[in-house]
This record gives sequence, structure tokens and C-alpha cells, in this order.
Amino acid sequence: MTSSKKPLSDPQSWNPATQLVHGGTMRSQWGETSEGLFLTQGFVYDNAEQAEARFKNEDPGYQYSRFGNPTVSMFEERLRLLEGADDCRATATGMAAVTAAILSYLNTGDHIVSARALFGSCRYVVEDLCPRFGIGSTLIDGNDLDAWKAAMQPNTKAVFFETPANPTLDIVDIAAVAEIAHDAGALVMVDNVFATPLLQRPLQHGADVVIYSATKHIDGQGRCLGGAVLGSETYINDHLHTFLRQTGPSMSPFNAWVMLKSLETLPVRVNAQCATASAIADRLAELPAIKSVLYPGRKDHPQAKLAAKQMSAGGQVVTFEVDGNKDATFRFLNALSIISISNNLGDAKSLVTHPATTTHQRLKPEARAELGISDGMIRLSVGLEDADDLIADLSAASAAV
Ligand SMILES: *Cc1c(COP(=O)(O)O)cnc(C)c1O
Repeated sequence: MTSSKKPLSDPQSWNPATQLVHGGTMRSQWGETSEGLFLTQGFVYDNAEQAEARFKNEDPGYQYSRFGNPTVSMFEERLRLLEGADDCRATATGMAAVTAAILSYLNTGDHIVSARALFGSCRYVVEDLCPRFGIGSTLIDGNDLDAWKAAMQPNTKAVFFETPANPTLDIVDIAAVAEIAHDAGALVMVDNVFATPLLQRPLQHGADVVIYSATKHIDGQGRCLGGAVLGSETYINDHLHTFLRQTGPSMSPFNAWVMLKSLETLPVRVNAQCATASAIADRLAELPAIKSVLYPGRKDHPQAKLAAKQMSAGGQVVTFEVDGNKDATFRFLNALSIISISNNLGDAKSLVTHPATTTHQRLKPEARAELGISDGMIRLSVGLEDADDLIADLSAASAAV
């Protein structure tokens, strides 16, 4: 099933699974099947004239791997095709991507509005770092469209949010927020980690910039750190490009190579993880020790309709609350045999996190309460294990509460 009438030789006409296997591949003179790993810092020139031309941007080749590298370019192009963006830049980590996306665009005197339900380090960038450089920031409840409207100021240059948000899986209405932001002249930046580039296309809903921690589902097997920023040619060329070149948070060619291979299996992994996550969410909801289950793919999610509108599946993360205090919740976590306690997500291995004492520990108790992060809350990142085994593990832990 092809989505357009473009010729089959054009990668834009391919469906995602094909783009993720073949997109962006550049072969060297050796004709290798698997993408080459160009683990090199620099590049040599045929002659002094070519070096001069390259520095003048009149010759398209590579100069130095902080600026660009063929393996990294292949990764960027593969992800760009999938996202349907004009351009993509890879970064060393997801936080390098978030920081560069924001700081390359905003200046002293500007203002950013953000949903307050954010990954801890993202919240630091918006709440603490931006103000240190004279960029005002306002954090609001991302579900409240009136709050978005009220937060807009004449100097608001960007809005930033995650959807689904970590760890509560709150959904932000991308199209509605984009309309409000665009009316105010602000750029819309979406951290799309939880949805993955397969389940949600923020650009199609009006976003301008999409940001990934490639450390999560894109690597997908808990190995390399990485990040990516995607957006329009203007945004990348006029803002991000020079910032990244000169400040240097480049993705290592080795990591780009690992992630290129990972992208090939992204649909297989994410689809399997979503199916298991959905089965687990339904089972958890039946366990007596579990007070509540938050999963965007379930009908009882407070924003199930909105989730269905902008996501093609519920995702790979299930958040739930143990019916009890911190001790009871720790008993649940400590009783797990297959599922490990960790703070990562999007791995082939299933991982659980207790946000209140780890990822969101830095927040004051009132701030946690405002986000709905209780002492009983557990975030489960569903891996690639057998669903029955995971359900058995969770049921046994539930009995230990
Ligand atoms: C992990 C994560 C990040 C940061 O990514 P790193 O690769 O760890 O730097 C940012 N946003 C979200 C939503 C994340 O889950």
C-alpha cells in the first residue's frame, strides 16, 4: 500500500518499514550491503582548491565529523524520511537535542511556554536554564487549552511539550496547541519520545520541530545514547545548524551506525511492544493490589479520544498505581523477577521505575502532587519478552504487596 503516486525509486513514496530498511543508504566504492561505519574524525581533500571550496560550502563533501559524517548522515536521512520532515540533525543524546533545539532558537528577552509534565532534565532546561540566559519560561498544565492561551506573551517564541508525557502519560492536543502557539507567533516543539516516530507524527498535526532521545526506542536495545531534531529547512539552516556545528554535541559515527541498524527493526519491535503493553495494561487493571492503570490505548484513559486521534497505538509504556504507600510499592518492585528496576525506557528488556524517588525526586512534593505522581506510581517500559511471562511476573509482585 503506497501513500502517494511518487515513483517507486523515490524513497518518499515508500511505506515506513521500507524507509527504515533502505532509506538514506549511501554505498562506498566497495558496494557493501550493510551501511559503512565511517569512524573517522576528519576527511582529506584531493587538493588545496578542493579544501578551499569545501570551506566555502561550494563543494558538497565532508570536512570534519563535528560538522557531518557519512554514517551520521545516513541515520539522519533515514529518520527524516520516516518523520516526513525537511531536514534532520543527530545529536549525542536526547538532552543535547532538547537543549540545542531550544537554545538555538531563543534569545535573551524571549519567552517559552511548556507543559509542566516533562522528563526531569527537560524541565531543568525550561525552568532553570532558560531563565539564566534571560529567556522567560512559564510552565502550565498541558491538558488545559485555556492555560496555553493565557500563557502566551508578545515575546513568546516557542512552546515545548511531551505527549504522552513522562510518567503520567498525559496527552497534549498537538493540533490545538499548535493553533494557539501559531496565533501568537511561536514555534511548536514536541518531544516525541514516548510515542516514537511510528505511532505519532507531530508535524502532521501542526508541530514545527520534533525532538527525540534516540537512546530510547530508536536504539531500542539499551546500548547507545543519541538524539535527533527534525524540522523545516528554515529552522534547521537558520538556527540549529550553526549552533550544533559550533557547540559540538555531535552523534558519534559508531552510535549512528548502531542506530541505523536499530531503525531497520523499529516497526517490528514497537508493534510487538505495543501489543504486549496493551495486554499488560488490561491485566493490571484486574489485579486487586493495583489502584489505577494509565495507558493511552485503554478506553478508561482520561484522554482516550485525543490519544486515538493523534496516535496510532497506545505506546509501549504503562503507568499504574499500587494501592498503598511507598513501602507497599517498593515491595511490588522488589518482588519482580524478570522485570528490572531501572530508569530507562524503550529497551528490549522490560524495566520499571518509581518516579517519585528517582526521575522526579528533584521536584518538591507539591510539584509531584501537581503532576499526579504519587508514592504508589510505577512506570513500566514494556520490552520484547513473552507477554505471559511478564504478566506472571507482575501478578506475583502484586501478590507480594
Ligand atoms: C530520555 C528522555 C530524554 C533525554 O534523552 P537522553 O538520551 O537520556 O539525553 C528527553 N525526553 C524524554 C521524554 C525522554 O524520555
